[in-house]
Amino acid sequence: MKSADIRQAFLSFFEEQGHTIVPSSSLVPDNDPTLLFTNAGMVPFKDVFLGRDPRPYVRATSAQRCVRAGGKHNDLDNVGYTARHHTFFEMLGNFSFGDYFKRDAIRFAWTFLTERLGLPAEKLWVTVHVSDDEAETIWKEEIGIDPERFSRLDEDNFWQMGDTGPCGPSSEIFFDHGPDVFGGPPGSPDEDGDRYIEIWNLVFMQFDRDAAGNLNPLPKPSIDTGMGLERVAAVLQGVHSNYEIDLFQSLLEAAAEIIGHADTTTPSLRVIADHIRSCAFLITDGVLPSNEGRGYVLRRIIRRAIRHGHKLGAREPFFHKLVAALDAEMGEAYPELRKARAQIEKVLLKEEEQFARTLDHGMGLLEAALGELDGDTLPGETVFKLYDTYGFPYDLTADICRERGVTLDETGFQRELEAQRERARAASQFGADYSASVDVEGKTEFTGYERLEDESRVTALIDE
Ligand code: ATP
Ligand code: MG
Ligand code: MG
Ligand code: MG
Repeated sequence: MKSADIRQAFLSFFEEQGHTIVPSSSLVPDNDPTLLFTNAGMVPFKDVFLGRDPRPYVRATSAQRCVRAGGKHNDLDNVGYTARHHTFFEMLGNFSFGDYFKRDAIRFAWTFLTERLGLPAEKLWVTVHVSDDEAETIWKEEIGIDPERFSRLDEDNFWQMGDTGPCGPSSEIFFDHGPDVFGGPPGSPDEDGDRYIEIWNLVFMQFDRDAAGNLNPLPKPSIDTGMGLERVAAVLQGVHSNYEIDLFQSLLEAAAEIIGHADTTTPSLRVIADHIRSCAFLITDGVLPSNEGRGYVLRRIIRRAIRHGHKLGAREPFFHKLVAALDAEMGEAYPELRKARAQIEKVLLKEEEQFARTLDHGMGLLEAALGELDGDTLPGETVFKLYDTYGFPYDLTADICRERGVTLDETGFQRELEAQRERARAASQFGADYSASVDVEGKTEFTGYERLEDESRVTALIDE
């Protein structure tokens, strides 16, 4: 089954169960200024769950584009290192707004996986929260899950919207990719391996946490689920890594040809294929590379992609050329992407030209520093110089160092950053308190801004 067919099968299945199909929202959340990017299918429905946004339906289903490359959910560092994480991915979800609850949510998920998609039950593993007797009974007695493949876990199986508000236990469904792949079952010491891959998360929104931390039962419990399209596609296409699915193969082949590097399993090529999706969709949704907030996250992703291309030998702008391949793969499902294509290419090319000038020099400096290294820690001053003079975001240097088994002196870097900030502050005749410029309204979901803002002010000085 191709990715596009799986997306359609999911939406149709839930439509048959009385759900309204709701189109994907923008990656820039329009209902929450504290959230960096839409990072889950439930984000556009947040106010519906809270009862503030009445809709003509109580059941919905969507294929929501998501980015997890900053803020609370940041998978940027996983990309290129795991078989299952992307910066951009599509989350398939079904939602109940005070309508059906646990029993139906579990039954729908199981029926879709085992009957509609035909996955063998003995490959599926299930977890529930330690406290959730109700879910355990449904799984064991109604679905008949083998107790061997069932466990109760703690933190991973509790979800909350923020420090207060709706929350509840969850149940996760994993697929076993078989003994050829390293990793242990959920809850075991090796669970971070890629053998048992989480495919679907069912959240049972059951409580309202008050400021004192009490869990008060919600009068109308709700359901929020999310399944990664790319992960299910890997399962159904009989491949282990998400990068081997149809959609990524086309992107990888295009990248291989443009860069002139034939091996499509090279991690750098995978990073590039991943990053073109997040960058293109962020630009589609109106984000532009800049030195602060969302635009700075976009810039960091673009620069990281350019660096990986450079590593593979690209010496001319290449990244923008991948938009054509992406359009061919996803433009039909996302007409807004197709429409924005020329603009995306223009923005990326400009960014590539701008960064190319300093990348060579910066890499030279970094190579020299790594060559002279005494021990295995890169001094904070070097990290800062790369950042300050060459526009290397911290995580770009970290990414390169990780490839070499070198750690970064983060404290030293922060010290340099602080010193720089002091100098800037002293030089400013206004003495404004920039840190007050983001009103987080006491919400906790998005924790990345402060740091970003700080970093961006420094880059802004050198990067116009
Ligand atoms: P993991 O533990 O593998 O990082 P998660 O628990 O963080 O996943 P959820 O927040 O539960 O993920 O999101 C729901 C589903 O979305 C996951 O079960 C998975 O299928 C998919 N998903 C989550 N993060 C990513 C990602 N970075 N890339 C691709 N798919 C993802
Ligand atoms: Mg995760
Ligand atoms: Mg998880
Ligand atoms: Mg999960």
